[in-house]
Amino acid sequence: MTHPRRIAVVGAGLAAVSTCDALRAQGYDGELTLFSAEHGLPYDRPPLSKDVLLGKARREDVLLRPERWYEEQRVQVREGTRVRALRPHEGGLELIDGSVVGTDMIVLATGGTPRALPVPGGDDPAVHLLRTWEDAERLRERLLPGARVAVVGAGLIGAETAAVAHALGCRVTLVDPVPVPLAAVVGDDIAGALHLRHSAEGIEVITAGVERVEARTGGVLLHLHGYGEVIAADTVVVGIGIRPATELAEAGGLAVDDGIVVDAAQRTSRPNVFAVGDVARRDGQRVRHEHWEAAQQGGEAAARGILGRPVPEPGAPWFWSDRHGSRLEAVGTMADAERTVRRGAPDSAAFTVLGLRGDRVVAAAAIDRARDIKAARRLVDRGTAVDPAHLTDEDTDLRALLRR
Ligand SMILES: Cc1cc2nc3c(=O)[nH]c(=O)nc-3n(C[C@H](O)[C@H](O)[C@H](O)COP(=O)(O)OP(=O)(O)OC[C@H]3O[C@@H](n4cnc5c(N)ncnc54)[C@H](O)[C@@H]3O)c2cc1C
Repeated sequence: MTHPRRIAVVGAGLAAVSTCDALRAQGYDGELTLFSAEHGLPYDRPPLSKDVLLGKARREDVLLRPERWYEEQRVQVREGTRVRALRPHEGGLELIDGSVVGTDMIVLATGGTPRALPVPGGDDPAVHLLRTWEDAERLRERLLPGARVAVVGAGLIGAETAAVAHALGCRVTLVDPVPVPLAAVVGDDIAGALHLRHSAEGIEVITAGVERVEARTGGVLLHLHGYGEVIAADTVVVGIGIRPATELAEAGGLAVDDGIVVDAAQRTSRPNVFAVGDVARRDGQRVRHEHWEAAQQGGEAAARGILGRPVPEPGAPWFWSDRHGSRLEAVGTMADAERTVRRGAPDSAAFTVLGLRGDRVVAAAAIDRARDIKAARRLVDRGTAVDPAHLTDEDTDLRALLRR
């Protein structure tokens, strides 16, 4: 197989940088160019809703790679250069200024766009989204002690933002129409415990959907469906998910179905175009995995695919999330489980739930139990048969089950 001489990566987030890193690590010696719609060197997103909002991390602390790495690895970053169209037949990309750059291989790593609040007034200037460094900077300036902050959406980013705003001394209201957000992802027990923690910490939690946002001097009023009161807020943060940034792929005629459809090597329906990270969905997989590790592993798989190397089967998806000083971790898909078992003292805030299908662990979620998750990942990936009694027995080290 002949290797490409020029590879163009569209986007400059984790998936893009991981692809470049893996290409060089696997011996690719040709041209490598990242086209980034954003300015500055690529940075990591998870700290945005954690240490960046808390004011504990500066831009240089969250860079994915130091500046010298791009020189050493001969990766050219074209900042502030949005790609406007794919020109795969002509072997190139069209940039925002209308120029066309030639390339042999394209990697789409365009990530996702946060969903705006789809109600009247949802675009009020007091309503914030959180995806980029600039979003986080703008929001941080608003999270002042005593500020009234309403967070809409109690999923991963909403919950983290609510916890940070609370830690910064804001008066926080968390609004979500779902009584136990995240239950579909991590199961009822873990999701319930996480959600209750918000009110225990002093956050006002309201189960309702937003009907409209009414502008007020210096803030807004949130009108909720079926809820008697309006919520007055200086700042609103919306965390209701992302939409995969598939525009280029769609216009270029690639197969798209809730993400750019890719095979195990991240190859799209067009052989010289790959897709990685939040924008990609593996064919046959029910959901896109919009998580940090999936973006990193996707980059590694794409590099192998591009260079014609075998791609190892990925492990079960894993993610983490931090709120109120606790860490949630989850592996696998809890919806795949037929039943769940709990591990950990009933009165403890730190516990693990393991999801079983037959005698195999297919998923696990835990609050502050990293060791359990580490072992559970291996049980899931290896498909080891287990006795559920051992899973719930705290005297049994889960790692020991791997050796049976
Ligand atoms: C606030 C926040 C907190 C998170 N916390 C966690 C966490 O705790 N745990 C976890 O597992 N995951 C977390 N995630 C998810 C994780 O960060 C993402 O899964 C990961 O960043 C996805 O990387 P990506 O490279 O696919 O996309 P992105 O990081 O979104 O990068 C895509 C890039 O492509 C650029 N782009 C798009 N279109 C074009 C174009 N046409 N031309 C040029 N450039 C373009 C965009 O501007 C962007 O820079 C978090 C995400 C956010 C936003």
